[in-house]
Amino acid sequence: MLKGRIALVTGASSGIGKVIAMKLAALGAKVAVNYIDIANIKDDAESVVAEIKAAGGEAAAFAADVSSEESVSAMIKEINESLGAVDILVNNAGITQDTLIMRMKVEQWEKVLDVNLKGAFICTKSVLKGMMKSRYGKIVNIASVVGFSGNAGQANYSASKAGLVGLTKTSAQELAGRGIRVNAVAPGFIKTAMTEVLPENVIEAMQAKIALGTLGEAEDVANAVVFLASPESDYITGNTIHVNGGMYM
Ligand code: NAP
Repeated sequence: MLKGRIALVTGASSGIGKVIAMKLAALGAKVAVNYIDIANIKDDAESVVAEIKAAGGEAAAFAADVSSEESVSAMIKEINESLGAVDILVNNAGITQDTLIMRMKVEQWEKVLDVNLKGAFICTKSVLKGMMKSRYGKIVNIASVVGFSGNAGQANYSASKAGLVGLTKTSAQELAGRGIRVNAVAPGFIKTAMTEVLPENVIEAMQAKIALGTLGEAEDVANAVVFLASPESDYITGNTIHVNGGMYM
């Protein structure tokens, strides 16, 4: 279904991004697996690429810090040269630095907004030239349930995710005339490294709020992303699909 398409997934060395990259590749897209060039993350990204190749797909790993315009520009240049122009962008890279507003340092606010919101803006801007030229593009922003509901201790994170919804709607309006669709997926509480670190009592309290009674899997989020990246969603733009097991309606 995605044969001939080039997809870039940011923060794809682990968690939800990894599963999105694998699913897009399974549908025939050539996938650029983005990772941030620190510690052993390159190895993680290379093992995602190896898994995709072992399953018969095509992929390559590309380093960039999404919050740096310079770093993203260099990555897009590399992708253009080695795979081709990006048709599908999934803005998945994200971080948390949780604490109550009273204790939150301006640096913690800025860091989370820089990666989660500015990063999506920079990546979107950087792929537009190619998408506009081909008059085709799919952009999927990974928001969060807390961008809609709020969550004590996550002022920076929930603001970044609410901002992503605004960015999604505005880019959808600006780009529709060029055949570029922009949507968001808002995951609820999903089993990944991001949620693994939470104390058992917090996990239990969250679980109690989920109508379907269990945490989601990365696969559940990836299924919605793949739909929005595929031609099957061509008449959908500026919208958010909530994948939260009924945690927020
Ligand atoms: P994760 O495993 O921590 O994945 C986040 C990825 O982003 C990691 O690979 C991380 O790399 C990468 N990243 C961080 N900063 C980056 C930067 N500056 N440039 C490039 N990549 C960067 O967490 P996840 O749960 O899969 O999260 C994926 C997305 O889903 C995030 O946007 C998150 O906010 C969203 N989400 C998750 C949940 C959930 O319950 N898990 C719920 C709602 C929304 P490192 O490992 O090196 O930091």
